[in-house]
Amino acid sequence: MSESDRVTPFFFESLPVRGALVQLKNSWHRIQLNQHYEQPVLEVLGHAAAASALIAQSLKFEGQITLQITGKGPLSMLVMQCTSDLALRGMARAELSGADMSYPDLMARAHCAITVDGEDMERPYQGIVEVCGESLAQSLEHYYERSAQLPSHVVLIGEQAVAGGLLLQRMPQGGELDEDDWRRLGLLAATLRAEELRDGAELALLAKLFAEDDLRVLESREVSFHCRCSQQRTEDVLRMLGVEEAEQALGSRGRIDVTCEYCGRLRSFDEVDVKRLFAPPAGQASSRLH
Ligand SMILES: [Zn+2]
Repeated sequence: MSESDRVTPFFFESLPVRGALVQLKNSWHRIQLNQHYEQPVLEVLGHAAAASALIAQSLKFEGQITLQITGKGPLSMLVMQCTSDLALRGMARAELSGADMSYPDLMARAHCAITVDGEDMERPYQGIVEVCGESLAQSLEHYYERSAQLPSHVVLIGEQAVAGGLLLQRMPQGGELDEDDWRRLGLLAATLRAEELRDGAELALLAKLFAEDDLRVLESREVSFHCRCSQQRTEDVLRMLGVEEAEQALGSRGRIDVTCEYCGRLRSFDEVDVKRLFAPPAGQASSRLH
């Protein structure tokens, strides 16, 4: 198992609190590959990657979560997806006037939503994350408190080298929790630093962060980059364009290049491909001959 990309769940023996620690390196580097995200965007994207893995690891069924931000401000689009098997992918589109931009400015006129999609669910569940506070972590804390009545401490780190974070949640059926204890755990979690996220160091790190508490650490799970794009899905998108637009897109070069925004994979279609895409199915064609 990869030492560098892991989620480690844990709970406290004598407090009704559970949590998880996430560290992303290879998968996070892969998300950044061939992209040139400016610092403020990189940070939010890293936070989104860590948050998505933290949420996805708690899913009790086969499915995936999508954290999506759409806006009319500097950040026009950010999508981060993580499956219950912890396969992660994500991208962002932004136009920044300056490299230095705060979270509230970056998220101006933006909406954030979390969609949970389960294989056995009739339709996906979507929750709106109100953009508030100074970070995505604060927005998510507010979301958990309001929509799920699940008080949470969320700490997120997003740097070029590493993304990661900590999630602490009060267990609804866990009994009483002293407010001072809850506040204390939040302050301890907030001391997490990027430099501490080292390969294979989860146990030592958690023991150090919560030295005074009897922590029970569960088995780590690997997070990996995986893009679900395929030839078939790309062809479906072209078909949805319609024959006229597809032919127009061929242009003078006689080729449509489609690059996946998540993994950067390029798929090219020429005139013959486009004809094939819009050709009636074989059965239909032959019936016309009679
Ligand atoms: Zn892809």
